[in-house]
Amino acid sequence: MKEIRLTRRQILKNGGLVLAGAFAPSLFTLSPLTTIEKYIAMTDKTVFDVIIIGGSYAGLSAALALGRSMRKVLIIDSGKPCNRQTPYSHNFLTQDGQTPKQISEVAKNQISKYDTVKFHEGIAVSGMKTADGFEIKTQSGESFGAKKLLFATGVADEMPATKGFAECWGISILHCPYCHGYEIRDNNIGIIANGETAFEMCRLINHWSKNLTLFTNGKSVLTAEQTKKIKQHHIQIIEGEISEFEHSKGNIQNILFKDGSKISKVAVFTRVGFKQHCEIPREIGCEMTEQNFIKVDDFNKTSIHGVFAAGDNTSMMRAIAIASSAGTRTGAFMNKELIDEAF
Ligand SMILES: Cc1cc2nc3c(=O)[nH]c(=O)nc-3n(C[C@H](O)[C@H](O)[C@H](O)COP(=O)(O)OP(=O)(O)OC[C@H]3O[C@@H](n4cnc5c(N)ncnc54)[C@H](O)[C@@H]3O)c2cc1C
Repeated sequence: MKEIRLTRRQILKNGGLVLAGAFAPSLFTLSPLTTIEKYIAMTDKTVFDVIIIGGSYAGLSAALALGRSMRKVLIIDSGKPCNRQTPYSHNFLTQDGQTPKQISEVAKNQISKYDTVKFHEGIAVSGMKTADGFEIKTQSGESFGAKKLLFATGVADEMPATKGFAECWGISILHCPYCHGYEIRDNNIGIIANGETAFEMCRLINHWSKNLTLFTNGKSVLTAEQTKKIKQHHIQIIEGEISEFEHSKGNIQNILFKDGSKISKVAVFTRVGFKQHCEIPREIGCEMTEQNFIKVDDFNKTSIHGVFAAGDNTSMMRAIAIASSAGTRTGAFMNKELIDEAF
């Protein structure tokens, strides 16, 4: 992902920093959620300024910025964030050690107080350009219109078929030491990887524990130099093919091998493939990057005018803080585009 460097002038021009102006919350009656149907009847059929598809950390952060900018926002969310199986989330300021659900519930409760933001539980299945914006259809047959779209749909991690892997994902099979390394520091940890990735992961995870085993899950393709360096750090290399992760409620007990042997581990780090959680951006023609992320510019605009994307679906830097930050920025950029088009 390209590093984002914005000058102060660019930020003022594109983000507007209208955020800084004095805001009068008393203009709004804080009321419980009205139904979307009632809302549509109350307004005209133009309906929403922005539809946000994906109501997790990136989508909710954008909704907060847009809702506070008096934009009519609809969030369509299918309730499947990528971290839903992890018991506790870490490394997000003020929320360290909370469950993923607790974090989004607090956000949803706070956002619900803004009468400008509506929630719709469901799956968006298609999108199209219309004369005055975009239309999104849901799996249950509703259709909603908006001037702009934001895809905050995240990615779906692809689980290897090995028995027990999917059940342990996010609990004892981990992807990120910054999120989960501290809790298992200095412990009996494995790394499942091969080649260049294995070498990089050994270097990284060695910082959290010196009690490491590398499982190449088949013949090692490490170079002789890499193997020597790994061994110098007392990291054992095991080439056997893994047949199963024996576990209790997602906590690994033993790693079983095709040759019948087994090794006990507290946790393992590995990397898995991913696909976009939502294919609508690709279907409506948004350009993708080589790594299968939605291509966005410094202002989170996709290649289609009026369509934005933020969060994991655009970036390999996966963390709640980063997704939230992207959502907040994108909300401001979208509001600024709406202001520019109307003023
Ligand atoms: C196992 C695991 C553990 C993690 N632990 C941590 C941690 O401890 N700390 C940390 O900072 N980060 C952690 N992360 C990373 C963090 O969870 C992500 O960076 C973050 O969730 C990304 O937020 P997002 O809003 O972009 O996407 P997501 O949180 O994945 O949310 C995407 C949302 O879009 C919805 N959606 C997708 N398609 C559609 C559709 N067609 N219609 C309607 N809704 C749709 C989904 O249901 C989902 O609610 C972890 C990730 C994983 C996989």
